Amino acid sequence: MIYNVMEQIMIDLFDEYRDRLGMKCTCSRCQSDVLALALNKTPPRYISQQDKAAYVKAEFVDKQEMTTLLVKLAECSKIVSDQPYCRKSGVAENSVPYLYR
Ligand SMILES: [Zn+2]
Repeated sequence: MIYNVMEQIMIDLFDEYRDRLGMKCTCSRCQSDVLALALNKTPPRYISQQDKAAYVKAEFVDKQEMTTLLVKLAECSKIVSDQPYCRKSGVAENSVPYLYR
């Protein structure tokens, strides 16, 4: 198996800063959309042993990069807030156009 370390790092970061990202809607769909969008904009970093994820995070992801990831999360929160695709928005729930940009 292979794992994208950035995935867990982004999820952890999102959990930590979610309340400060100014999301208009925090339903699970909008949260997932923010994460998916942010990860699509972040080069993956793959490992073959999941238990090495913490090591990779500590050794290769510095403060500067964490700040960059946080900025991406904030940008993506704004995109999703401006154009939510959850049921509150009235748009079909299966439409996901911006996730691929
Ligand atoms: Zn929502």
